[in-house]
Amino acid sequence: MSMNKPPGEDKPPGEAKQGCLQPAENILISPGFSSSCLIHGTFNRHGGVSPSPWDSNNISFGLGDNAENVRANREQIKKTIGFRHLVSAKQVHGSRVHTVDESPVDDMEIDAFDALITNVPGIGLMIQQADCQAVFLFDPEKKAIGIAHAGWRGSIGNIIAETVFAMSKAFPTEPADVKAAISPSLGPCCAEFVNFRSELPAALHGYQVRPDYFDFWAISRDQLCAAGIRPENIHITAICTRCDQDFFSYRRDRDTGRFASVIGLTER
Ligand SMILES: [Zn+2]
Repeated sequence: MSMNKPPGEDKPPGEAKQGCLQPAENILISPGFSSSCLIHGTFNRHGGVSPSPWDSNNISFGLGDNAENVRANREQIKKTIGFRHLVSAKQVHGSRVHTVDESPVDDMEIDAFDALITNVPGIGLMIQQADCQAVFLFDPEKKAIGIAHAGWRGSIGNIIAETVFAMSKAFPTEPADVKAAISPSLGPCCAEFVNFRSELPAALHGYQVRPDYFDFWAISRDQLCAAGIRPENIHITAICTRCDQDFFSYRRDRDTGRFASVIGLTER
């Protein structure tokens, strides 16, 4: 079992509870997101029940893994974060944002959305990943959260701006209050786009770090800033999923599982 905790997160249990970030086993947490009303983190690929090539904490249906395994892995995630229900999206690399405005009676997977927002406590919003980013958003003033699935198509569609805008409309969030974090995802070391001239718009070509390699973490950081989020409120985990064997990577393995990033407001 890999713990995947950044240095400094190894707090004594009492302190961890007080901060309410609950650095449980198998959950990677962004520093600076500390709040008494928030739980968030990225689960690595370990600790689940799925066999190879989804071994073992695969949370995605539809990859060939047994649905019972996926359900068991999702149950374990709920147990870890202490929430009754998960709301996830059947992601399509688009830019649509779904607002969860009431507590679901069961887990829900909402079709054809790539971002989820809510101000309802007790719900874990979950993004499924294998190299794409999950972008966490937390508004401590209005007690609202969002999470976006941003692969390169999401970056082109600026799903980050769409999600911040949706929170501004719904809650209403002031972007200057928002704290943001970018989960483990494909790093500039591995984001090779040999066809970038046809695949990426010219506005993104400046993020080329060496021939054919692009820094999508920087793209997301700049999109967050352009949406009104303060640079000091943005945390980039800076873990590349293709380099780090603790995470599923589509680029590395193709036939593989999906890991989870989850955010939720506690019910207190
Ligand atoms: Zn890498």
